[in-house]
Amino acid sequence: MNSRDMAYSKWHRHLGDDITMLDIDAVEFCNKCWSPLAVMELANDVDQKSKPFTLTLKVAHGCNVPGFVVLYTVDEEKPVEDCMVGFRIMKIYPEISGYNHVTVDQYKKWLKVLHDNCPCLRSK
Ligand SMILES: [Zn+2]
Repeated sequence: MNSRDMAYSKWHRHLGDDITMLDIDAVEFCNKCWSPLAVMELANDVDQKSKPFTLTLKVAHGCNVPGFVVLYTVDEEKPVEDCMVGFRIMKIYPEISGYNHVTVDQYKKWLKVLHDNCPCLRSK
């Protein structure tokens, strides 16, 4: 994320501790009906044991969609389309799981299934 993308977040921090805001990292959504399909907290995987996800869980609950923490490993040497090396995924809503290691291919297939199962497609 470049500094321009962070301008609002940085500005908002100066409003004081009573006015809190957090960027939502990712909302997978259906490109046909624009419904949210999943809410994700994303972070570079630095072998962290946990990552805070309370707000992402509450957003997922409010949207009635699954919520996840997705930790990703990047190979900076590779072109952007091939830069992801692997993922660790934790489901946080509707139930909380442990972290599961998944390959890039598994992750892509999982995203495809998520999108292919939007209720707007199943009703046809
Ligand atoms: Zn849809």
